[in-house]
Amino acid sequence: APVILWLRRDFRLHDNPALAAAAQDGRPVIPVFIEDEVVETLGAAPRWRLALAAQCFARTLEGIGSKLVVRRGRARDVLRDLVRECGADTVHHSRAYERAARDRDREVGEALAAEGCALRGFEGHLLFEPGSVRTGQGGSYKVFTPYWKKVQERDPGMPVGAPGQLKAPQAWPETGEVDVARLGAGMRRGRDVVAPWLTVGAEAAADRLHDFVENRMDRYETARDWPAVDGTSGLSENLTYGEISIRSCWMAGQRALDEGRSGAATFLKELAWREFSYHILHHFPALRDENWRGEWDAFPWSRDARSEAFTAWCRGRTGVPFVDAAMRELYVTGRMHNRARMITASYLTKHLMTDWRLGERWFADCLVDWDPANNALGWQWVAGSGPDASPFFRIFNPQTQLKRFDPQGAYTARWIAETSAAPGRDALAYFDAIPRAWGMDPAAPYPDPVISLAEGRDRALEAYRGRKRAD
Ligand code: FAD
Repeated sequence: APVILWLRRDFRLHDNPALAAAAQDGRPVIPVFIEDEVVETLGAAPRWRLALAAQCFARTLEGIGSKLVVRRGRARDVLRDLVRECGADTVHHSRAYERAARDRDREVGEALAAEGCALRGFEGHLLFEPGSVRTGQGGSYKVFTPYWKKVQERDPGMPVGAPGQLKAPQAWPETGEVDVARLGAGMRRGRDVVAPWLTVGAEAAADRLHDFVENRMDRYETARDWPAVDGTSGLSENLTYGEISIRSCWMAGQRALDEGRSGAATFLKELAWREFSYHILHHFPALRDENWRGEWDAFPWSRDARSEAFTAWCRGRTGVPFVDAAMRELYVTGRMHNRARMITASYLTKHLMTDWRLGERWFADCLVDWDPANNALGWQWVAGSGPDASPFFRIFNPQTQLKRFDPQGAYTARWIAETSAAPGRDALAYFDAIPRAWGMDPAAPYPDPVISLAEGRDRALEAYRGRKRAD
Protein backbone atom coordinates (compact mmCIF):
# COMPACT_ATOMS: atom_id res chain seq x y z
CA ALA A 1 0.00 0.00 0.00
CA PRO A 2 1.28 3.53 -0.70
CA VAL A 3 2.10 6.07 2.01
CA ILE A 4 0.53 9.51 1.83
CA LEU A 5 2.90 12.34 2.73
CA TRP A 6 0.77 15.27 3.83
CA LEU A 7 2.86 18.46 3.44
CA ARG A 8 1.93 21.54 5.42
CA ARG A 9 4.96 23.57 6.52
CA ASP A 10 7.80 21.27 5.54
CA PHE A 11 8.58 21.94 1.90
CA ARG A 12 12.03 20.39 1.73
CA LEU A 13 13.69 17.08 0.88
CA HIS A 14 16.67 17.44 3.22
CA ASP A 15 16.19 16.67 6.90
CA ASN A 16 12.49 16.03 6.59
CA PRO A 17 11.87 13.04 8.89
CA ALA A 18 8.25 12.53 7.75
CA LEU A 19 9.38 12.37 4.13
CA ALA A 20 12.48 10.25 4.85
CA ALA A 21 10.41 7.70 6.78
CA ALA A 22 7.87 7.51 3.95
CA ALA A 23 10.64 6.93 1.40
CA GLN A 24 12.54 4.46 3.53
CA ASP A 25 10.81 1.14 3.04
CA GLY A 26 10.48 1.41 -0.72
CA ARG A 27 6.73 1.80 -0.85
CA PRO A 28 5.11 4.24 -3.25
CA VAL A 29 4.75 7.75 -1.77
CA ILE A 30 1.93 10.14 -2.61
CA PRO A 31 2.82 13.71 -1.55
CA VAL A 32 -0.25 15.86 -0.96
CA PHE A 33 -0.88 19.54 -0.32
CA ILE A 34 -4.38 20.51 0.79
CA GLU A 35 -5.83 23.99 0.59
CA ASP A 36 -7.68 23.20 3.78
CA GLU A 37 -9.54 24.98 6.55
CA VAL A 38 -6.35 26.05 8.33
CA VAL A 39 -4.84 27.45 5.12
CA GLU A 40 -8.04 29.43 4.59
CA THR A 41 -7.68 31.11 7.98
CA LEU A 42 -4.17 32.38 7.27
CA GLY A 43 -3.57 36.06 6.73
CA ALA A 44 -3.22 37.34 3.17
CA ALA A 45 0.57 37.42 2.89
CA PRO A 46 1.35 34.10 4.60
CA ARG A 47 -1.38 32.32 2.60
CA TRP A 48 0.09 33.57 -0.64
CA ARG A 49 3.65 32.80 0.45
CA LEU A 50 2.57 29.29 1.47
CA ALA A 51 1.18 28.76 -2.02
CA LEU A 52 4.52 29.82 -3.51
CA ALA A 53 6.33 27.37 -1.24
CA ALA A 54 4.02 24.53 -2.31
CA GLN A 55 4.32 25.44 -5.97
CA CYS A 56 8.10 25.49 -5.79
CA PHE A 57 8.16 22.16 -3.98
CA ALA A 58 5.92 20.60 -6.64
CA ARG A 59 8.77 21.21 -9.12
CA THR A 60 11.31 19.76 -6.72
CA LEU A 61 9.24 16.59 -6.41
CA GLU A 62 9.07 16.24 -10.18
CA GLY A 63 12.86 16.26 -10.16
CA ILE A 64 12.90 13.06 -8.10
CA GLY A 65 10.28 11.16 -10.06
CA SER A 66 7.35 12.22 -7.91
CA LYS A 67 4.51 14.68 -7.98
CA LEU A 68 2.55 16.94 -5.65
CA VAL A 69 -1.13 16.03 -5.48
CA VAL A 70 -3.13 19.18 -4.76
CA ARG A 71 -6.64 19.15 -3.39
CA ARG A 72 -8.96 21.65 -1.77
CA GLY A 73 -11.44 21.11 1.06
CA ARG A 74 -11.68 20.11 4.70
CA ALA A 75 -8.54 18.09 5.47
CA ARG A 76 -10.52 15.26 7.07
CA ASP A 77 -12.70 14.76 3.98
CA VAL A 78 -9.91 15.18 1.45
CA LEU A 79 -7.64 12.66 3.16
CA ARG A 80 -10.44 10.17 3.73
CA ASP A 81 -11.30 10.30 0.02
CA LEU A 82 -7.68 9.97 -0.97
CA VAL A 83 -7.12 6.98 1.31
CA ARG A 84 -10.15 5.27 -0.20
CA GLU A 85 -8.96 6.05 -3.73
CA CYS A 86 -5.39 4.85 -3.37
CA GLY A 87 -5.61 2.31 -0.56
CA ALA A 88 -2.97 3.97 1.64
CA ASP A 89 -2.71 2.62 5.17
CA THR A 90 -0.52 5.42 6.56
CA VAL A 91 -0.43 9.21 6.32
CA HIS A 92 2.79 10.95 7.40
CA HIS A 93 3.10 14.57 8.42
CA SER A 94 5.44 16.88 10.32
CA ARG A 95 3.75 17.93 13.53
CA ALA A 96 2.17 21.35 13.81
CA TYR A 97 1.65 23.07 17.12
CA GLU A 98 -0.77 25.97 16.84
CA ARG A 99 -4.26 25.38 18.13
CA ALA A 100 -6.11 25.40 14.80
CA ALA A 101 -3.68 22.91 13.27
CA ARG A 102 -3.75 20.65 16.31
CA ASP A 103 -7.56 20.57 16.28
CA ARG A 104 -7.52 19.77 12.58
CA ASP A 105 -4.95 17.01 13.01
CA ARG A 106 -6.93 15.42 15.83
CA GLU A 107 -10.03 15.37 13.65
CA VAL A 108 -8.07 13.90 10.74
CA GLY A 109 -6.55 11.21 12.97
CA GLU A 110 -9.99 10.10 14.12
CA ALA A 111 -11.44 10.04 10.61
CA LEU A 112 -8.50 8.06 9.26
CA ALA A 113 -8.57 5.59 12.13
CA ALA A 114 -12.14 4.76 11.14
CA GLU A 115 -10.77 3.87 7.69
CA GLY A 116 -8.07 1.64 9.19
CA CYS A 117 -5.41 4.18 8.24
CA ALA A 118 -2.82 5.55 10.68
CA LEU A 119 -1.85 9.23 10.95
CA ARG A 120 1.81 9.44 11.98
CA GLY A 121 3.26 12.72 13.20
CA PHE A 122 7.00 13.36 12.95
CA GLU A 123 9.37 15.90 14.43
CA GLY A 124 10.94 18.31 12.00
CA HIS A 125 9.57 21.78 12.64
CA LEU A 126 11.53 22.24 15.86
CA LEU A 127 14.76 21.13 17.49
CA PHE A 128 12.98 19.59 20.45
CA GLU A 129 9.40 18.56 20.93
CA PRO A 130 7.70 21.29 22.94
CA GLY A 131 6.96 19.97 26.39
CA SER A 132 10.06 17.76 26.32
CA VAL A 133 12.36 20.45 27.73
CA ARG A 134 11.72 20.34 31.47
CA THR A 135 13.18 21.81 34.62
CA GLY A 136 15.06 19.59 37.08
CA GLN A 137 11.79 19.17 39.00
CA GLY A 138 9.94 18.19 35.83
CA GLY A 139 8.12 21.52 35.53
CA SER A 140 7.94 23.77 32.48
CA TYR A 141 10.15 26.81 31.97
CA LYS A 142 8.51 30.21 32.09
CA VAL A 143 11.68 32.26 31.73
CA PHE A 144 13.95 32.18 28.70
CA THR A 145 17.44 32.23 30.26
CA PRO A 146 17.20 28.94 32.21
CA TYR A 147 15.38 27.40 29.24
CA TRP A 148 18.26 28.47 26.99
CA LYS A 149 20.78 26.96 29.42
CA LYS A 150 18.93 23.68 29.36
CA VAL A 151 18.58 23.64 25.57
CA GLN A 152 22.32 24.09 25.14
CA GLU A 153 22.89 20.82 27.00
CA ARG A 154 20.68 18.90 24.60
CA ASP A 155 21.54 17.32 21.28
CA PRO A 156 18.92 17.69 18.57
CA GLY A 157 20.49 14.83 16.61
CA MET A 158 21.83 14.70 13.08
CA PRO A 159 19.84 15.88 10.06
CA VAL A 160 18.41 13.05 7.96
CA GLY A 161 19.46 12.94 4.31
CA ALA A 162 17.30 13.67 1.28
CA PRO A 163 16.07 10.68 -0.72
CA GLY A 164 17.35 10.60 -4.31
CA GLN A 165 14.04 9.28 -5.57
CA LEU A 166 10.46 8.88 -4.32
CA LYS A 167 8.71 5.80 -5.64
CA ALA A 168 5.64 6.74 -7.67
CA PRO A 169 2.35 4.88 -7.30
CA GLN A 170 1.10 2.81 -10.25
CA ALA A 171 -1.49 5.48 -10.95
CA TRP A 172 -1.50 9.04 -9.64
CA PRO A 173 -4.71 10.19 -7.94
CA GLU A 174 -6.51 13.06 -9.60
CA THR A 175 -4.91 16.41 -8.83
CA GLY A 176 -5.19 20.15 -9.40
CA GLU A 177 -2.39 22.73 -9.44
CA VAL A 178 -1.48 24.92 -6.48
CA ASP A 179 -3.79 27.88 -7.00
CA VAL A 180 -1.39 30.72 -6.27
CA ALA A 181 -3.72 33.37 -7.67
CA ARG A 182 -6.64 32.25 -5.51
CA LEU A 183 -4.56 31.82 -2.38
CA GLY A 184 -2.93 35.20 -2.96
CA ALA A 185 -6.14 37.01 -3.80
CA GLY A 186 -6.46 38.50 -0.31
CA MET A 187 -3.33 40.60 -0.71
CA ARG A 188 -4.61 44.14 -0.57
CA ARG A 189 -1.28 45.34 -1.84
CA GLY A 190 0.19 44.44 -5.19
CA ARG A 191 1.75 41.00 -5.14
CA ASP A 192 4.27 42.25 -7.68
CA VAL A 193 5.45 44.83 -5.15
CA VAL A 194 6.21 42.22 -2.50
CA ALA A 195 7.40 39.42 -4.82
CA PRO A 196 10.91 40.78 -5.54
CA TRP A 197 11.67 40.67 -1.82
CA LEU A 198 10.94 36.98 -1.42
CA THR A 199 13.39 34.09 -1.31
CA VAL A 200 11.32 31.04 -2.12
CA GLY A 201 12.35 27.40 -1.92
CA ALA A 202 14.80 25.08 -0.25
CA GLU A 203 17.67 25.79 -2.62
CA ALA A 204 17.42 29.54 -2.09
CA ALA A 205 17.12 29.00 1.66
CA ALA A 206 20.28 26.87 1.76
CA ASP A 207 22.14 29.59 -0.20
CA ARG A 208 20.83 32.17 2.23
CA LEU A 209 22.15 30.24 5.23
CA HIS A 210 25.50 29.73 3.53
CA ASP A 211 25.75 33.42 2.60
CA PHE A 212 24.87 34.46 6.15
CA VAL A 213 27.48 32.18 7.72
CA GLU A 214 30.17 33.27 5.27
CA ASN A 215 29.49 36.98 5.08
CA ARG A 216 27.38 38.26 7.96
CA MET A 217 27.71 35.93 10.94
CA ASP A 218 30.83 37.67 12.28
CA ARG A 219 29.07 41.03 12.48
CA TYR A 220 25.72 39.61 13.57
CA GLU A 221 26.07 40.53 17.24
CA THR A 222 25.97 44.26 16.55
CA ALA A 223 24.64 44.52 12.97
CA ARG A 224 21.46 42.65 13.92
CA ASP A 225 20.24 45.72 15.79
CA TRP A 226 20.50 48.13 12.87
CA PRO A 227 17.35 48.23 10.78
CA ALA A 228 19.03 49.83 7.77
CA VAL A 229 21.68 47.10 7.63
CA ASP A 230 21.24 43.65 6.12
CA GLY A 231 22.82 42.12 9.19
CA THR A 232 20.65 39.10 9.98
CA SER A 233 20.11 35.73 8.34
CA GLY A 234 16.73 36.53 6.78
CA LEU A 235 15.83 32.87 7.32
CA SER A 236 12.53 33.35 9.16
CA GLU A 237 10.61 33.30 5.88
CA ASN A 238 12.11 29.91 5.00
CA LEU A 239 11.82 28.46 8.50
CA THR A 240 8.13 29.33 8.53
CA TYR A 241 7.41 27.11 5.54
CA GLY A 242 10.03 24.51 6.36
CA GLU A 243 12.12 25.30 3.30
CA ILE A 244 15.10 24.83 5.55
CA SER A 245 15.27 22.66 8.64
CA ILE A 246 15.87 24.28 11.97
CA ARG A 247 18.41 21.53 12.62
CA SER A 248 20.46 22.62 9.58
CA CYS A 249 20.50 26.18 10.92
CA TRP A 250 21.42 24.97 14.39
CA MET A 251 24.25 22.78 13.06
CA ALA A 252 25.62 25.67 11.01
CA GLY A 253 25.57 27.83 14.13
CA GLN A 254 27.27 25.11 16.19
CA ARG A 255 30.00 24.63 13.59
CA ALA A 256 30.65 28.37 13.55
CA LEU A 257 30.76 28.37 17.34
CA ASP A 258 33.30 25.54 17.34
CA GLU A 259 35.39 27.59 14.92
CA GLY A 260 35.32 30.45 17.40
CA ARG A 261 33.31 32.69 15.09
CA SER A 262 31.81 35.70 16.81
CA GLY A 263 28.08 36.04 16.34
CA ALA A 264 27.53 32.28 16.43
CA ALA A 265 26.43 32.14 20.07
CA THR A 266 23.94 34.96 19.56
CA PHE A 267 22.57 33.34 16.41
CA LEU A 268 22.02 30.06 18.29
CA LYS A 269 20.31 31.96 21.06
CA GLU A 270 17.89 33.54 18.60
CA LEU A 271 17.06 30.10 17.20
CA ALA A 272 16.37 29.06 20.78
CA TRP A 273 13.89 31.95 21.12
CA ARG A 274 11.92 30.32 18.34
CA GLU A 275 11.96 27.07 20.32
CA PHE A 276 10.90 28.93 23.44
CA SER A 277 7.94 30.45 21.60
CA TYR A 278 6.71 26.99 20.67
CA HIS A 279 7.40 25.74 24.16
CA ILE A 280 5.16 28.50 25.56
CA LEU A 281 2.52 27.91 22.88
CA HIS A 282 2.45 24.22 23.78
CA HIS A 283 1.69 24.99 27.41
CA PHE A 284 -0.64 27.89 26.58
CA PRO A 285 -2.47 27.16 23.31
CA ALA A 286 -4.44 30.43 23.60
CA LEU A 287 -1.22 32.45 23.14
CA ARG A 288 -2.62 34.34 20.13
CA ASP A 289 -5.90 35.18 21.80
CA GLU A 290 -5.44 35.62 25.51
CA ASN A 291 -3.11 37.46 27.84
CA TRP A 292 -0.66 34.97 29.27
CA ARG A 293 -0.85 36.99 32.47
CA GLY A 294 -4.56 37.14 33.19
CA GLU A 295 -4.18 40.33 35.26
CA TRP A 296 -3.87 42.20 31.96
CA ASP A 297 -7.46 41.34 31.00
CA ALA A 298 -8.74 44.45 32.76
CA PHE A 299 -6.24 46.85 31.19
CA PRO A 300 -8.01 49.70 29.37
CA TRP A 301 -6.54 49.03 25.94
CA SER A 302 -8.45 50.33 22.95
CA ARG A 303 -9.95 47.46 20.97
CA ASP A 304 -11.30 49.64 18.18
CA ALA A 305 -9.83 48.41 14.90
CA ARG A 306 -11.28 51.49 13.17
CA SER A 307 -9.79 54.06 15.51
CA GLU A 308 -7.82 56.87 13.95
CA ALA A 309 -4.72 55.86 15.88
CA PHE A 310 -4.78 52.21 14.83
CA THR A 311 -5.48 53.13 11.21
CA ALA A 312 -2.56 55.56 11.20
CA TRP A 313 -0.32 52.86 12.66
CA CYS A 314 -1.31 50.27 10.03
CA ARG A 315 -0.79 52.77 7.23
CA GLY A 316 2.55 54.12 8.43
CA ARG A 317 1.14 57.59 9.10
CA THR A 318 1.62 58.09 12.82
CA GLY A 319 4.00 61.01 12.31
CA VAL A 320 6.71 59.08 14.18
CA PRO A 321 9.41 58.39 11.59
CA PHE A 322 10.81 55.12 13.01
CA VAL A 323 7.33 53.64 13.38
CA ASP A 324 6.17 54.78 9.95
CA ALA A 325 9.32 53.56 8.21
CA ALA A 326 8.85 50.14 9.78
CA MET A 327 5.16 49.87 8.94
CA ARG A 328 5.92 50.81 5.35
CA GLU A 329 8.74 48.32 5.17
CA LEU A 330 6.26 45.68 6.31
CA TYR A 331 3.76 46.62 3.66
CA VAL A 332 6.23 46.64 0.79
CA THR A 333 8.44 43.71 1.68
CA GLY A 334 6.23 41.47 3.83
CA ARG A 335 8.99 41.61 6.43
CA MET A 336 10.12 43.88 9.21
CA HIS A 337 13.39 44.16 11.06
CA ASN A 338 13.30 42.73 14.60
CA ARG A 339 14.10 46.03 16.31
CA ALA A 340 11.44 47.72 14.24
CA ARG A 341 8.95 45.02 15.31
CA MET A 342 9.73 45.85 18.93
CA ILE A 343 9.41 49.60 18.39
CA THR A 344 6.16 49.44 16.42
CA ALA A 345 4.61 46.97 18.86
CA SER A 346 5.65 49.07 21.85
CA TYR A 347 4.34 52.25 20.25
CA LEU A 348 0.97 50.64 19.45
CA THR A 349 0.41 49.04 22.84
CA LYS A 350 1.79 51.90 24.94
CA HIS A 351 1.77 55.29 23.22
CA LEU A 352 -1.43 54.43 21.37
CA MET A 353 -2.82 52.25 24.19
CA THR A 354 -4.14 49.71 21.71
CA ASP A 355 -4.67 46.03 22.44
CA TRP A 356 -1.71 43.94 21.28
CA ARG A 357 -4.12 41.51 19.58
CA LEU A 358 -4.99 44.13 16.96
CA GLY A 359 -1.32 44.54 16.13
CA GLU A 360 -0.77 40.79 16.17
CA ARG A 361 -3.54 40.35 13.61
CA TRP A 362 -2.18 43.07 11.34
CA PHE A 363 1.25 41.48 11.40
CA ALA A 364 -0.35 38.07 10.78
CA ASP A 365 -1.97 39.50 7.68
CA CYS A 366 1.10 41.28 6.33
CA LEU A 367 4.16 39.20 7.27
CA VAL A 368 5.43 36.61 4.81
CA ASP A 369 7.37 35.09 7.71
CA TRP A 370 4.31 35.00 9.94
CA ASP A 371 4.82 32.40 12.61
CA PRO A 372 1.98 31.60 15.02
CA ALA A 373 4.26 31.18 18.03
CA ASN A 374 6.93 33.84 17.38
CA ASN A 375 4.46 36.53 16.47
CA ALA A 376 2.16 35.98 19.43
CA LEU A 377 5.02 35.69 21.90
CA GLY A 378 6.72 38.75 20.39
CA TRP A 379 3.57 40.81 20.89
CA GLN A 380 2.90 39.58 24.41
CA TRP A 381 6.55 40.13 25.29
CA VAL A 382 6.44 43.75 24.18
CA ALA A 383 2.99 44.45 25.64
CA GLY A 384 4.08 43.13 29.04
CA SER A 385 1.34 40.50 29.20
CA GLY A 386 3.55 37.56 28.25
CA PRO A 387 5.94 35.23 30.03
CA ASP A 388 9.36 36.69 30.78
CA ALA A 389 8.04 39.88 29.24
CA SER A 390 9.60 43.27 29.13
CA PRO A 391 7.88 45.24 31.94
CA PHE A 392 5.13 47.52 30.66
CA PHE A 393 6.68 50.63 32.21
CA ARG A 394 9.79 50.18 30.05
CA ILE A 395 8.48 52.18 27.12
CA PHE A 396 10.68 52.48 24.06
CA ASN A 397 11.07 56.06 22.91
CA PRO A 398 11.06 55.75 19.11
CA GLN A 399 13.06 58.94 18.69
CA THR A 400 15.83 57.86 21.07
CA GLN A 401 15.84 54.44 19.44
CA LEU A 402 16.19 56.08 16.06
CA LYS A 403 19.19 58.10 17.19
CA ARG A 404 20.78 54.99 18.60
CA PHE A 405 20.08 52.46 15.87
CA ASP A 406 19.68 54.61 12.77
CA PRO A 407 21.86 57.64 13.50
CA GLN A 408 22.33 58.59 9.84
CA GLY A 409 18.58 58.32 9.20
CA ALA A 410 19.18 55.74 6.46
CA TYR A 411 16.22 53.58 7.47
CA THR A 412 13.70 56.41 7.62
CA ALA A 413 15.03 57.94 4.40
CA ARG A 414 14.68 54.60 2.70
CA TRP A 415 11.00 54.16 3.56
CA ILE A 416 9.50 57.63 3.96
CA ALA A 417 9.05 59.62 0.77
CA GLU A 418 7.39 62.74 2.14
CA THR A 419 10.45 63.92 4.06
CA SER A 420 12.81 63.68 1.13
CA ALA A 421 13.36 65.95 -1.88
CA ALA A 422 14.32 62.95 -4.02
CA PRO A 423 12.69 59.85 -2.53
CA GLY A 424 14.23 56.53 -3.44
CA ARG A 425 12.69 53.51 -5.13
CA ASP A 426 11.63 51.74 -1.92
CA ALA A 427 9.91 54.79 -0.44
CA LEU A 428 7.96 55.27 -3.65
CA ALA A 429 7.16 51.56 -3.94
CA TYR A 430 5.03 52.00 -0.85
CA PHE A 431 2.72 54.33 -2.74
CA ASP A 432 2.38 51.76 -5.52
CA ALA A 433 1.52 49.12 -2.97
CA ILE A 434 -1.19 50.82 -0.94
CA PRO A 435 -4.87 50.75 -1.85
CA ARG A 436 -6.17 53.95 -3.40
CA ALA A 437 -8.71 54.25 -0.62
CA TRP A 438 -5.91 55.14 1.78
CA GLY A 439 -5.60 58.41 -0.10
CA MET A 440 -1.92 59.02 0.52
CA ASP A 441 0.38 60.99 -1.70
CA PRO A 442 4.19 61.12 -1.70
CA ALA A 443 3.99 64.84 -2.47
CA ALA A 444 1.76 65.59 0.54
CA PRO A 445 3.42 66.84 3.75
CA TYR A 446 4.50 64.24 6.28
CA PRO A 447 1.74 63.87 8.93
CA ASP A 448 1.90 65.43 12.38
CA PRO A 449 2.21 62.97 15.27
CA VAL A 450 -1.04 61.23 16.23
CA ILE A 451 -0.12 61.98 19.83
CA SER A 452 3.01 63.56 21.29
CA LEU A 453 5.46 60.99 22.56
CA ALA A 454 5.44 62.54 26.04
CA GLU A 455 1.66 62.59 26.25
CA GLY A 456 1.33 59.01 24.98
CA ARG A 457 3.90 57.81 27.45
CA ASP A 458 2.30 59.58 30.43
CA ARG A 459 -1.14 58.28 29.50
CA ALA A 460 0.17 54.70 29.28
CA LEU A 461 1.99 54.95 32.61
CA GLU A 462 -1.06 56.43 34.27
CA ALA A 463 -3.20 53.52 33.04
CA TYR A 464 -0.52 51.11 34.22
CA ARG A 465 -0.46 52.62 37.71
CA GLY A 466 -4.27 52.43 37.76
CA ARG A 467 -4.10 48.75 36.94
CA LYS A 468 -1.53 48.18 39.64
CA ARG A 469 -3.72 49.95 42.22
CA ALA A 470 -6.65 47.75 41.15
CA ASP A 471 -4.60 44.54 41.67
P1 FAD B 1 17.82 36.32 12.61
O1 FAD B 1 18.23 37.42 13.51
O2 FAD B 1 18.73 35.91 11.54
O3 FAD B 1 17.50 35.07 13.57
C1 FAD B 1 17.51 33.72 13.10
C2 FAD B 1 16.21 33.05 13.43
O4 FAD B 1 16.01 33.00 14.84
C3 FAD B 1 14.98 33.75 12.88
O5 FAD B 1 14.75 33.41 11.54
C4 FAD B 1 13.90 33.25 13.81
O6 FAD B 1 13.45 31.96 13.46
C5 FAD B 1 14.63 33.15 15.14
N1 FAD B 1 14.44 34.39 15.91
C6 FAD B 1 15.16 35.53 15.85
N2 FAD B 1 14.67 36.43 16.73
C7 FAD B 1 13.62 35.86 17.33
C8 FAD B 1 12.70 36.29 18.33
N3 FAD B 1 12.80 37.50 18.91
N4 FAD B 1 11.72 35.44 18.71
C9 FAD B 1 11.61 34.22 18.17
N5 FAD B 1 12.45 33.75 17.22
C10 FAD B 1 13.44 34.56 16.81
N6 FAD B 1 9.50 35.97 13.97
C11 FAD B 1 8.96 35.17 13.03
O7 FAD B 1 9.61 34.25 12.54
N7 FAD B 1 7.65 35.33 12.65
C12 FAD B 1 6.85 36.30 13.19
O8 FAD B 1 5.67 36.38 12.83
C13 FAD B 1 7.43 37.18 14.16
N8 FAD B 1 6.70 38.19 14.68
C14 FAD B 1 7.27 39.01 15.64
C15 FAD B 1 6.49 40.03 16.21
C16 FAD B 1 7.03 40.87 17.18
C17 FAD B 1 6.17 41.95 17.80
C18 FAD B 1 8.39 40.71 17.56
C19 FAD B 1 8.98 41.62 18.60
C20 FAD B 1 9.16 39.71 17.00
C21 FAD B 1 8.61 38.85 16.03
N9 FAD B 1 9.40 37.82 15.43
C22 FAD B 1 8.80 36.98 14.51
C23 FAD B 1 10.79 37.56 15.86
C24 FAD B 1 11.88 38.25 15.01
O9 FAD B 1 11.57 39.60 14.81
C25 FAD B 1 12.08 37.58 13.64
O10 FAD B 1 12.22 36.19 13.81
C26 FAD B 1 13.32 38.11 12.93
O11 FAD B 1 13.21 39.50 12.72
C27 FAD B 1 13.47 37.39 11.59
O12 FAD B 1 14.57 37.85 10.88
P2 FAD B 1 15.81 36.91 10.58
O13 FAD B 1 15.34 35.59 10.07
O14 FAD B 1 16.76 37.68 9.77
O15 FAD B 1 16.36 36.69 12.06
